[in-house]
Amino acid sequence: INSFFQPVQQLVQLYTQYQQGKAAIGKIRSLLGEAPSVLSLPGAITLPPVRGEIVFDDVTFGYLPDRPVLSGVTLRIAPGETVACVGPTGAGKSTLAKLVTRFYDPTSGRILIDGHDLRDVTLSSLRTQIGVVPQEPFLFAGSLRDNIAFARPTATDDEVWAAVDAVGLRDLVERSPEGLDTPLHERGQSVSSGERQLLALARAFLAEPRVVVLDEATSSLDLRSELRVEAALDALLEGRTAILVAHRLSTAMRADRIIVVDDHHIIETGSHAELVAAGGPYAEMFATWAAHS
Ligand code: ADP
Repeated sequence: INSFFQPVQQLVQLYTQYQQGKAAIGKIRSLLGEAPSVLSLPGAITLPPVRGEIVFDDVTFGYLPDRPVLSGVTLRIAPGETVACVGPTGAGKSTLAKLVTRFYDPTSGRILIDGHDLRDVTLSSLRTQIGVVPQEPFLFAGSLRDNIAFARPTATDDEVWAAVDAVGLRDLVERSPEGLDTPLHERGQSVSSGERQLLALARAFLAEPRVVVLDEATSSLDLRSELRVEAALDALLEGRTAILVAHRLSTAMRADRIIVVDDHHIIETGSHAELVAAGGPYAEMFATWAAHS
């Protein structure tokens, strides 16, 4: 009887392990914010170090067939340029950002980084050169150092401190009982919302990506924290190509260029001053915002 049930038991055990493994992967994916729906193609090349030019060439994309979220989007972002996306909720701003990191592939059209179609390069080589700062950055049970050096675990102390200083977090680390080795509790309850954002910026800074894609947090901060986050953002974006999904016009105003996304399209593009002078949809948003703040 044993010889009959043993293989069955083994199978059950294997299946349980498989389910646990699947659950763990699901958890990691949800931590990263998205289930990747794309794979590296056979024959994909390693992306060589880029200058950071991003081009959308007539890009159409929808999550569902025949329901485009973005339609015929064409856009060139120069190396080192900061572009902020603004527009109503649901317009497709985050989707545009996700396409740059290749969480999804366009339904039609191409997205290029330094002239390479994103589909022609390996995902790992793409993602080491594109830093993503999600709207809700995740912290995990581990030390401050582990959390900051997440994307570059081999970083030296000096490098971690440089990132800490770049985002103005030295006081937080020095106030912590064990400095960089101070454990963060799971989900970092001990960390304020502003500090969480600064830690996410330090993490991105340490990874030294050429391109930064940032979905701005919507949580409101007190003025002091907001100023600190803005200063940290300036340090992170200096010399890098950046695409910001801006929920605050105060962030958008600081970008080199603003694109207004609505109705599946980029409906306006220009600097803050140019768009205000143009008197179009952005100027209207800005006037409404200015009247309320
Ligand atoms: P925004 O960032 O401008 O608020 P999004 O890019 O998040 O807009 O969303 C654009 C549209 O795509 C919305 O209609 C949204 O409901 C839809 N959408 C976003 N993410 C998904 C998804 N994972 N699956 C299906 N639809 C989605």
